[in-house]
Amino acid sequence: MTKIGVLALQGAFVEHIDILHQLGVATLPVRLPEELADLDGLVLPGGESVTISKLAHSFGLIEPLKQLAREGLPMLGICAGLIFLAKEVANSEVETLRLMDIRVKRNAFGRQVDSFETDLMVPILGEKLFHAIFIRAPIIEKIGPEVEVLAKLPDGLAVTVRQGKLVASAFHPELGDDLRFHHYFLNII
Ligand code: GLN
Repeated sequence: MTKIGVLALQGAFVEHIDILHQLGVATLPVRLPEELADLDGLVLPGGESVTISKLAHSFGLIEPLKQLAREGLPMLGICAGLIFLAKEVANSEVETLRLMDIRVKRNAFGRQVDSFETDLMVPILGEKLFHAIFIRAPIIEKIGPEVEVLAKLPDGLAVTVRQGKLVASAFHPELGDDLRFHHYFLNII
């Protein structure tokens, strides 16, 4: 049976576990390096990227996570998880895994609109729009040649990207009852 780890240091990990159960896969909340063994995929949930990064550092997870991604373990990073996967963060000293060739800017949507919801066209999920919830989301300001854009806001700003088996999204697909985004991730596995 497919087993997906969900990094459970801080943030919205329970919601991902719920959705993955609805899709019929086994999950494991991951807090320690030994819990990374035998996973078919890993979710890096949203939350507070500095906190997640510091906890990952103290628990000795940074190097094992990098190693697993290099070995081809599919990973899905949401919001703070997207920041954690990025090679560069323009406006923060946060330590990241530096796995995706993107430069991001934390909390970059500006005060009035830093949290918003919108129905978004996500071509990989079919024709029905996806209800995308953004919560103090980062902006992806620069994208390397190996990174594919999977979804954009109407103004052209990339919000969901993929590089090999790594997928990252600025919006939260776990906060709703639409299973299509997680289903897409399971298909990569
Ligand atoms: N603002 C958070 C950060 O910078 C991310 C928010 C989220 O994950 N919803 O880390």
